[in-house]
Amino acid sequence: MMFTIKRATDRPCVVVVGGGASGMMAAIRASECGAQVFLAERNDRLGKKLRITGKGRCNLTNSCGRDEFLTNVPTNPRFLYTALAAMDPADTMAFFETLGVPLKVERGNRVFPVSDRADDIADALATRCRTLGVTILHTRVRSIFKQNDRVVGVQTEEGDLEADAVILATGGKSYPKTGSDGDGYRMAKELGHTITSIRPSLIPLVESGNLCAQMQGLSLRNVALRIVECASKKTVYEDFGELLFTHFGLSGPTVLSASAHLSDMAPGKYEAQIDLKPALSPEKLDERLLSDFSKYKNRDFANSLNDLLPQKMIEPFIRLTGIDPQKKVHSITKEERKTILSHLKCFCVLLSGLRPISEAIITRGGVDVAEVNPKTMESRLAKGLYFAGEVLDVDAYTGGFNLQIAFSTAFLAGQNAAGEANIRI
Ligand SMILES: Cc1cc2nc3c(=O)[nH]c(=O)nc-3n(C[C@H](O)[C@H](O)[C@H](O)COP(=O)(O)OP(=O)(O)OC[C@H]3O[C@@H](n4cnc5c(N)ncnc54)[C@H](O)[C@@H]3O)c2cc1C
Repeated sequence: MMFTIKRATDRPCVVVVGGGASGMMAAIRASECGAQVFLAERNDRLGKKLRITGKGRCNLTNSCGRDEFLTNVPTNPRFLYTALAAMDPADTMAFFETLGVPLKVERGNRVFPVSDRADDIADALATRCRTLGVTILHTRVRSIFKQNDRVVGVQTEEGDLEADAVILATGGKSYPKTGSDGDGYRMAKELGHTITSIRPSLIPLVESGNLCAQMQGLSLRNVALRIVECASKKTVYEDFGELLFTHFGLSGPTVLSASAHLSDMAPGKYEAQIDLKPALSPEKLDERLLSDFSKYKNRDFANSLNDLLPQKMIEPFIRLTGIDPQKKVHSITKEERKTILSHLKCFCVLLSGLRPISEAIITRGGVDVAEVNPKTMESRLAKGLYFAGEVLDVDAYTGGFNLQIAFSTAFLAGQNAAGEANIRI
């Protein structure tokens, strides 16, 4: 079965597979460069994942320079040079502001829409696609047709589409309910591409034991988190900010960022060490403890920590110290106070692993970038095939970097796909 839509004979035809952040940007750029563009999205709405980014606020980019940007990309940063030169964070900001979405820059150069609505970003992209005359097809693409060494179209669930160029922008494998379930990896593989090991990144951490489970739902702000490799005692990550105790372990912004540094996670390999009072030196904290203990000297130890710790934490904390909760505060020894102090400065959670990829903010791994031309985003294995966004083996830390990578690679793929297709007519 074929679609009834006729392709133009006087214009090159580009099919974009996936209507997420990168697919919409690629469609826009290919259309601006003169191509007839078909955008195939399996969901009935464009940008389903984009609409939930940044807790619904969408941290769309990071307003920093190229070098700083690349230090936030642990996997294949050099692959992004040309893409970032084609569309850098300042270009992205100008792009959305021109489309009528005012932006603001928050802590750590994180850029958000002033409205705090991710829908405004997704709607701006979708509207721009429609204004440019991009044909949006709500269908799943099953496979990409190749003849000799060149792609010639796609097979969808509604019928086949001819194309001079195809841009694969199907995203990763995380949050599969948004439509990104790894389908693009399969299609790329069928065309001969290597898919590197697919793993979760920016993902909550699972504890060994049930210490965190006892504090489930408790969120701590202004704590310092350190991840230490147990065998070598080497610190592999350090950050300051917010974390959340859950029924399985740890989550929250600092924890998600930490996970991107733990590519070789194994049970018992790493320990999370939380400094519950990072603003106080051990000496100052000891003074504070002494002052609390003198105020509450006739209370049981269990009732003496209310000024220092959130209620949910007190019981598990006391258990960790090994001190009898019924012990009167006035009889707590100097040695015991030292133990309390050490747990306040270093509250340890032994880690057993990462949560499943379906819960990851980002997928690590994807189409091997050695098989993609970084100057054009074109496949080195199939002419006319381009890649954009998370389907590629590139990932970054939190802060708006991942969406910027989606936009930059898409912009470059879009203009080159239109150009490549132009050459063919
Ligand atoms: C909860 C959450 C919050 C996030 N917050 C941020 C943030 O604030 N800032 C940031 O920079 N990054 C954030 N990210 C990461 C960011 O969302 C991704 O990097 C980005 O969406 C990748 O864009 P993409 O277009 O490559 O893929 P996607 O946005 O995943 O889009 C791929 C699209 O392809 C479609 N598709 C897949 N297969 C097919 C097929 N066979 N046929 C047709 N269509 C198909 C899917 O339905 C989907 O719509 C967040 C991610 C999550 C999960």
